[in-house]
Amino acid sequence: MLRIVPSFDRIGEENAFAVLARAGALAAQGRDIVNLGIGQPDFPTPPHIVEAGIKALRDGHHGYTPAVGIAPLREAVARDLHRRHGVEVSPDAVMIVPGGKVTMFMAILMFGEPGAEILYPDPGFPIYRSMIEFTGATPVPVPIREANGFAFSAQETLSLITERTRLLIVNSPANPTGGVTPKSEIDALVEGLEAHPGVAVLSDEIYGTMTYDGGTHVSLLAYPEIRDRLIHLDGASKTYAMTGWRLGWSVWPKPLYDAARKLAVNSFSCVNAATQWAGVAALDGPQDCVVAMVTEFDRRRRLMVDGLNRLPNVSCITPKGAFYAFPNVARTGWKAKALASALLDEAGVAVIGGPDFGVYGEGYLRLSYANSAENIGRALERMGQFLSERP
Ligand code: PLP
Repeated sequence: MLRIVPSFDRIGEENAFAVLARAGALAAQGRDIVNLGIGQPDFPTPPHIVEAGIKALRDGHHGYTPAVGIAPLREAVARDLHRRHGVEVSPDAVMIVPGGKVTMFMAILMFGEPGAEILYPDPGFPIYRSMIEFTGATPVPVPIREANGFAFSAQETLSLITERTRLLIVNSPANPTGGVTPKSEIDALVEGLEAHPGVAVLSDEIYGTMTYDGGTHVSLLAYPEIRDRLIHLDGASKTYAMTGWRLGWSVWPKPLYDAARKLAVNSFSCVNAATQWAGVAALDGPQDCVVAMVTEFDRRRRLMVDGLNRLPNVSCITPKGAFYAFPNVARTGWKAKALASALLDEAGVAVIGGPDFGVYGEGYLRLSYANSAENIGRALERMGQFLSERP
């Protein structure tokens, strides 16, 4: 009998992948499925980025690179952070990793152990909790409330810090809610954190380029007060429609950087070389492709929110960032996960039940509007029909 170590009993999943598989299986049986479940842009990677990847392969970039990533990409990340947030970051603090997830994996491994508490947003990206549990640390959910526009509440977050808290995970713009935490709240959070110098902060800013209605994303990198304990997470997956390339980057405080480098050496060695050169083209190249994608997401966002608010017993606040809507379906009388399954099986619409993002996700669904306006329209029509027939 093979015996896997017990910590694997505690590792979780990302249900979006299971929904994607189930939607694919139904489609293979000939069912017409509209998939609003998975969180990835439906655009192809912009051509100049693809060309840079191909050129890198043609130019012979076939070998290992430094574990922390090639210098031109680390320099491009530093330039991008300066351009977007006006912050000075040394390329020597930047680490290139195979996707945004890897930064959270590393950060949670560094601070998670039995007895430690890690604060994470709930509803939030499911891998936070999964990894925290894997390490044996205690996951402490920070409620992300609709009444607060799905933003972090500085006061509520700070009130959950104890002498055992080792890491606080923040995410804005947020998955799954689309919430954007305003600068005033971030100011208050950073101010409050000064009383807790032993708490590290992981700021997941993977949707940082996607804000709407004139709102801007405030990076935690812009706060010198916490730079010595801030891990900044970002990557190319969402901004440049590169989910399958596996390219992320992070900025680490000096004492943690070498630990991150060692984790890289012990696991993936480096991100594949051609992908890294494509990343240089993404960050240094024209940004109009990003503007065009975000403009299109904005159009679809309004379409989706309008449509959701017309469904019986459904209400949806307008998300300010990312590419998700998080409608409140509590008044339909359905449990959210049961509703998500029934919508897939009976109406051919794949969405994710809020509880897949945490206990505070009950009563909500997550719909991705990284899909065509036509598909969003079809999905809303089917949902409307389903909810009127099966209230
Ligand atoms: N962080 C958040 C909040 C996400 O929603 C995702 C992906 O869905 C990631 C990180 C991971 O991104 P990547 O695909 O680059 O690993």
